[in-house]
Amino acid sequence: MICENISVSEEGHLLFAGMDTVALAEKYQTPLYLMDEDRIRKNCRTYVEAFQKYFGEGALACYASKAASFKQICRIVTEEGMGLDVVSSGEICTALAAGVSLEKAFFHSNNKTDADIAYAMENGIGYFVVDNAEELERIAEIAGEKHLTQKLLLRLTPGIDTHTYEAVNTGKVDSKFGTAIETGQAKEMVRHALQLKNIELSGFHCHIGSQVFDSDTFIRSSKIMLGFIAEVKKDLGFVAKKLDLGGGYGVRYVESHPVIDIAENIKEVAACIKAECESLGIAVPDILMEPGRSIVADAGMTLYTAGTVKRITGYKNYVSIDGGMTDNPRFALYGSEYTVEAANKMREAKTFLCDVVGRCCESGDIIQKNVRMPESIQRGDTVAVLTTGAYNYAMASHYNRLPKPPIVMLKGGQDYLAVRRETIEDMVRYDV
Ligand SMILES: *Cc1c(COP(=O)(O)O)cnc(C)c1O
Repeated sequence: MICENISVSEEGHLLFAGMDTVALAEKYQTPLYLMDEDRIRKNCRTYVEAFQKYFGEGALACYASKAASFKQICRIVTEEGMGLDVVSSGEICTALAAGVSLEKAFFHSNNKTDADIAYAMENGIGYFVVDNAEELERIAEIAGEKHLTQKLLLRLTPGIDTHTYEAVNTGKVDSKFGTAIETGQAKEMVRHALQLKNIELSGFHCHIGSQVFDSDTFIRSSKIMLGFIAEVKKDLGFVAKKLDLGGGYGVRYVESHPVIDIAENIKEVAACIKAECESLGIAVPDILMEPGRSIVADAGMTLYTAGTVKRITGYKNYVSIDGGMTDNPRFALYGSEYTVEAANKMREAKTFLCDVVGRCCESGDIIQKNVRMPESIQRGDTVAVLTTGAYNYAMASHYNRLPKPPIVMLKGGQDYLAVRRETIEDMVRYDV
């Protein structure tokens, strides 16, 4: 199986975190998001421990809330000692509602509204990660109106092309995110930040993309960022205290994806950073990273009930499920790969080739193409899509007025509700 929290029972049922998914589907109904709390904690610890060991005291691993934002996840990751990345007032509000203090929170986004900026400051956000020069001015102005000094990092684009999907590739010079080093605009922004009142520049940030499987990409970006840190020290006399390397470590969606040893990767990145700082004659800054996917993706699974099974003789086969692009739009958006299983028929031979499709009125509403299912797959069977903990619930919509599924957490053989199921009445709640 693609992750150690997945197995098969004697009667041929798919087990997740040791629990029978067929029984869970019956208890909570479908579609249903499951999350393995123990796995989330384990993933957090991998980062927190490796950070302490290889980067030292001032280092901090933050959870990128956008991967999955709800109260319980905010509580879990903070209990494990992680900071929090947020990208909107909504994510800030979720953290606050969970009782999480924002001291170790970083506010991202390429377009923070004035209302977002004010709300974040009023609630004591630790840092802004400033995207561009215009935003920098606005933050300084609003901080001035509020008579406070706001700490911030500047988000820079190191000009690196990761070999992942275009839509999740963010480190290139012409990206919509950040300010480019190559064009000289980044240095200009530092110069400006050092003159502005009501802000305190703490360092720099970069984020190069997603589904990264090796330390090489992080090593290349840290070299560029450290080079920039050395340059602004020499030219502007500014010493950066923090360097945030972003998120992006990959996860296994299918068997063919590699297994990565994140602790080993961090060790390599740390060794390289130390050597590079030494050769540049600068102090090692406090290192930050912001994993999202690698914290929650393999802690998630979605359960559905099969409906129509359509055999178009001589062409192709379809298995329809009772959810779709509304709870998982990632195949429709980027053609993302997923492993799909018939959860109540795990011991049957998989000889039936089909596309697993959703129930939305949209032919692009596909969960996965060319899936192998048991020949006997039929209405009423439980269908499981694995590794859905990241960017599924977070990207869910109400298209076709489908209510969002609940999130049930699994912990030590027990299940509990973290987000309740929306009802069809919820769909009309805001209509006047
Ligand atoms: C999306 C994002 C992350 C998290 O990326 P993952 O691939 O989920 O680890 C971290 N930082 C920034 C700035 C992001 O945009």
